[in-house]
Amino acid sequence: MSVQSHAMAQQLAPEEPLLGNKIATFFLTSLPEQRTRIVRSLWSALVVVMCVGLIAYAIHTDLMEPVEGWALSCAMIASNLAFYMALRTGFNLRFADPALTLPQVLAALTWIAGCYGATSEAHGGLLMFVALVLVFGAFNLSPRRARITSLYAVVVMGMVMAIKSLHDPLRYQPRVEWAYFIFLVTMVPTVAVLAAHLHKMRQHLRGQTADLVSALARIQDMAARDPLTGLINRRKMLDVLAQHAALSQREVLAFSLAYIDLDHFKQVNDSWGHRVGDEVLRGFADEAQRLLRETDVMARWGGEEFLVLLPDLPPGSPIIAVERMRSVLAGMGLSASAPALRMTFSAGIAVHRLGETMDETIERADKALYQAKASGRNQIVVASA
Ligand code: GH3
Ligand code: MG
Ligand code: MG
Repeated sequence: MSVQSHAMAQQLAPEEPLLGNKIATFFLTSLPEQRTRIVRSLWSALVVVMCVGLIAYAIHTDLMEPVEGWALSCAMIASNLAFYMALRTGFNLRFADPALTLPQVLAALTWIAGCYGATSEAHGGLLMFVALVLVFGAFNLSPRRARITSLYAVVVMGMVMAIKSLHDPLRYQPRVEWAYFIFLVTMVPTVAVLAAHLHKMRQHLRGQTADLVSALARIQDMAARDPLTGLINRRKMLDVLAQHAALSQREVLAFSLAYIDLDHFKQVNDSWGHRVGDEVLRGFADEAQRLLRETDVMARWGGEEFLVLLPDLPPGSPIIAVERMRSVLAGMGLSASAPALRMTFSAGIAVHRLGETMDETIERADKALYQAKASGRNQIVVASA
């Protein structure tokens, strides 16, 4: 996309959210976590719709009494609506499990048991639904809660089987009900093992994800920082400058860049050793950061060179800030091993020009630094605007 067409697209972009988004927000809320829960509950609403269809078929084929069939349908729809409303209004957030998985699974098992008792010869097929709901619970509940659902399934289904085989032994033959009950009871431990296994896998994955997130944060930090001084490195500074350039184009932010180079640093290494040289670099970075403002960003640009991004607020403040740094640091010891050692630096400051690239600003700051060095060091030169 060209710059022009990109600008046009930005102009044409509607400020109001789209109608589809508005409808989605109305039904699903705008909170991502709540949305996921509501969408899951709406999937179970789809299952309810299919069940109502099956009930209608059962009524039509005389497998179910119309009164029982429609009463069960209404109960299922009402409980599904109640769960939807609890999720939509945020009532669910008061509970330890805001997804309300356990009550939803228990409600589903209750309606299945109801249907089991009302579907005459076809009732055996309902056992499949019991298995389906228990497996769903195993995937989404803790092992303890999965065990509660299994126990509830055995108790409620066992009760319906017992009552029906007593009152309607022709269609609910006791020997067949016993067989179904044994199927159910043998399925339960399998589901419990599955639940425990899945729980372990989830815990393991969660642990691995947390490890990966912290490792990534560490790697990102390592990639962005200079290990000796702890300052951001050149690569990160280039990102910061690019972001700042984009921001300054939009909002016309005034800022300056200071290119700082320690004076005669090589002599420190030569006379005191590399270790003291390192201490000086670290001490310089610490003290300079302490003296700079919070809005200033200092990076180790390379060797004994530093680049500082200084917002120009109030106007002229970058020059005052760097000058204060120069005068304070010139009188300080920066290395504990060589307390008598005094370091100075030279700096070139370039005030960013409107429309200029960052490279051009850095280039002017570098030239100003060269002038500061040439004029005797321990001084600041501001590049001509
Ligand atoms: P000038 O005033 O002209 O800047 O002189 P200078 O001696 O500071 O500049 P020069 O470029 O000649 O030397 C810079 C030295 O900085 C050379 C290099 O060994 C040293 N240096 C660069 N990085 C490190 C580092 O991480 N630790 C230490 N101890 N020395 C470093
Ligand atoms: Mg240098
Ligand atoms: Mg130097």
